[in-house]
Amino acid sequence: GVTCSTLEELLQERLATPLLTLLNHLSFLAQKRGWQVYLVGGAVRDLLLAEPETTVVLSDIDIVVDGCYGNTNYNGDNLSFSSPAVELAMDLQKHYPAARLDVHGQFQTAALLWHNDPILDSLWIDIATARTEFYPYPAANPEVEASSIRQDLYRRDFTINALALRLTPPLVGELLDFFGGVLDLEQRKIRVLHSNSFIEDPTRIYRAVRFAVRLGFEIETQTKEYIRYAISSGIYEKQREESNKSFDQNRRVPALETRLKSELRYILQSHYWKRSLQLLGELKALRCIHPTLELSPQLWQQIRSVDRCLQRFDSQRTLTHWEVRLEVLIAYLSPQYREKVAQTLQLQIESIERLKNLEPAQDKILETLSQAEKNSQFFWLFKLYSLPMLILIAIHSDRKVRRHIWNYLIQLREIKPALNGNDLKAMGYKPGRQFKQMLDDLLTATLDGEVCDRTSAEAFLQQNYPL
Ligand code: ATP
Repeated sequence: GVTCSTLEELLQERLATPLLTLLNHLSFLAQKRGWQVYLVGGAVRDLLLAEPETTVVLSDIDIVVDGCYGNTNYNGDNLSFSSPAVELAMDLQKHYPAARLDVHGQFQTAALLWHNDPILDSLWIDIATARTEFYPYPAANPEVEASSIRQDLYRRDFTINALALRLTPPLVGELLDFFGGVLDLEQRKIRVLHSNSFIEDPTRIYRAVRFAVRLGFEIETQTKEYIRYAISSGIYEKQREESNKSFDQNRRVPALETRLKSELRYILQSHYWKRSLQLLGELKALRCIHPTLELSPQLWQQIRSVDRCLQRFDSQRTLTHWEVRLEVLIAYLSPQYREKVAQTLQLQIESIERLKNLEPAQDKILETLSQAEKNSQFFWLFKLYSLPMLILIAIHSDRKVRRHIWNYLIQLREIKPALNGNDLKAMGYKPGRQFKQMLDDLLTATLDGEVCDRTSAEAFLQQNYPL
């Protein structure tokens, strides 16, 4: 029941004025050339979902230009100058010199980016030319004219992301809803546009989960079946092999892994990451990370545990939490797979090292602990490892080891000797390499309760390091 005029009003009501001005400008530049421009994707979804009379903050905007250039062939280097999207972006940038222009000639797209702009803040506008050339399947309804914009929308992931809002006359504000997106928004459903969607792009499985959890929507029953089918057919491994084959020679990152990693990052960065993992687990979709990865009760326990650890030991957020979470998932795999998976996903060098060293580190810790009694022994053992490594080890160890690690993190590592280098100088010691040894010995004595204040610390040094 949405009409053109109400949607035009909706734009007016829910968009901040500077953004509205910008879109009007874009519309004007397209009109001059006889082209159509559309707002598409997440922006339309979020505008329609927003509460009445609220301003929707859009920081990421997707625009599609339909340049009616049906029989023009784009090829080679000319392309960046001949694509309607690029032409519009260049023209718009003339009016917005503060924006940075990025052109991807190869894909006939351009982006305008503002960074901390006083008015437009950190706005990012992607402008693409309506794509028909990669259109993989025949139109679902042959009687509907397969216009460029319709074909462009048909390539998208879910019905709620495949809506377009026309920004150019004569029908400004017309909502193009070819696939029932509005109904799905109302019924709060994540639904794919066709049965092959997940086979075409398995990372959409992660996107389905992300949108479902974030928006509080349900993955529609049939769509869930498609996911289960794609997963059980091993689609991800097949495509991984394919993309490895075709990318191996020039040692480039396989596009599939890059996209999976980026979806994983979105999910693991969000505050709804645990619920998303739960849903991914239900759908058996963690198999995309490795065919043996399942959300067992034990892994769920570890996920909850890493959450508590990060809250407790890194409230200042000096670590990259999403990566630590991902490490926990990978560490759950049997040791022989860990390093390979971490490498395939192009994790940071430190993460890969941690996953590689997890098993030997655990062995070493178990062995040392079996002979350790004093605080200082625990301290010097655990001091060998970084905080994220200790978190990973703690999560993977039994309660006894975990308690020792917690005790180190909470108590032992906070203990400091009563004297520092300056105090040593004041006592008459000559500064030099020996200072470190002296202070370490002093710390050991302090940890073991043999020294408790300045007086006993001074006595300790005088006895062990006579002047
Ligand atoms: P968000 O609010 O998380 O940014 P978004 O819908 O804008 O959500 P993007 O990842 O920025 O998500 O993608 C923009 C649009 O591009 C989507 O709305 C969708 O139409 C399309 N899209 C993105 N990724 C895919 C994909 N893997 N397959 C098909 N369409 C996709």
